[in-house]
Amino acid sequence: MIDFPNTYDDITVPKGAVVRSGGTDLQERLRSANAQPHIVDLTGIKGFAGIEPGPAGVRIGGGTRMAAVARELADSHPALAITTGGLATPQVRAQGTIGGNLVQRTRCWYYRHPELDCFKSGGDSCPAREGRHLYGVVFDNSECVHPHPSSIAMALLCYDTEIELVDGRRGSVQDLLGDGVDPTRDHTLEHGEVIAAIHIDAPWEGEHGAYFRSISRFEAEWPLVECVVRAAVVDGAIIQAALAIGGVATVPLRMAEAEAVLVGAVLDDATISQVAHACTAGAAPLPETGYKVDLIVATVTETLERLQSSIA
Ligand SMILES: Cc1cc2nc3c(=O)[nH]c(=O)nc-3n(C[C@H](O)[C@H](O)[C@H](O)COP(=O)(O)OP(=O)(O)OC[C@H]3O[C@@H](n4cnc5c(N)ncnc54)[C@H](O)[C@@H]3O)c2cc1C
Ligand code: SF4
Repeated sequence: MIDFPNTYDDITVPKGAVVRSGGTDLQERLRSANAQPHIVDLTGIKGFAGIEPGPAGVRIGGGTRMAAVARELADSHPALAITTGGLATPQVRAQGTIGGNLVQRTRCWYYRHPELDCFKSGGDSCPAREGRHLYGVVFDNSECVHPHPSSIAMALLCYDTEIELVDGRRGSVQDLLGDGVDPTRDHTLEHGEVIAAIHIDAPWEGEHGAYFRSISRFEAEWPLVECVVRAAVVDGAIIQAALAIGGVATVPLRMAEAEAVLVGAVLDDATISQVAHACTAGAAPLPETGYKVDLIVATVTETLERLQSSIA
């Protein structure tokens, strides 16, 4: 059974039902599990998709396709736009939505296996920790060891972001993600809670942005490590900066120590090296993820070199 509500007031999500936006994550999970639950399809809701600039920033409807985010915010919010335009494939970006991206479930192969249980699928253990975790975390802060899947959540950490739910409540992207410690969750939404919109601040004066992902093939894959940076540059010096990395922990991480190095600096090779190494502070890799420590340094370095080119 599929419901197609037309307005936010029409949305009801009974126990056992699931909401669907673009369906690019949900349908794959349902197919693997051979499940056919009651679906509440959000795509026909008036006002669910669309980007509206305002004086204090931008409102992005939760049902806005990722391709539109990448295209329409390229000039004003380059860090978010480049990150969004660099993920998945053109087909997935044309179909998948920003709201669905933020609350997609983990890509861990144990979780996605229809016959295995783990913390995230109702079990009471993590088979990946003692088993295979080649794509796992480097910052080990949870009993779950697979990184958070959302590149867009990582980019939004660099903005003053508010997530608005259909009932009008608002919280930060950190509130939506949680601290990553609970191994059963990828986000903090309860059953039936729906993201109506994402609000982000206006561009900084002299804003530049860059993004880079280290990935095992050209596209159609989640990154091993990814990095996004947002910087306000005046007279060649960085006066404000936000930097986050993904693929390394059960939530994407904002890197305060690295940002402190960037602010006030001219982006030369020595600064880039210092920032890249600062991003590995506190890393505690698993037996199979030691390679990601070097990859963090390489990925942050490449991201900052791209930022350097955009400033020049
Ligand atoms: C080959 C491939 C590569 C990919 N690579 C990346 C990558 O590198 N980085 C990355 O970030 N993503 C990647 N993705 C994931 C992709 O971005 C997501 O599948 C997509 O963003 C999900 O959006 P959707 O609208 O299709 O969500 P859906 O599949 O419709 O829903 C996803 C989940 O969110 C829930 N949901 C949907 N909308 C809402 C809402 N508004 N409020 C509350 N809950 C909601 C659904 O119930 C479901 O649980 C990749 C996907 C593929 C297929
Ligand atoms: S890493 Fe997380 S998702 Fe994977 S098996 Fe362990 S608990 Fe499940």
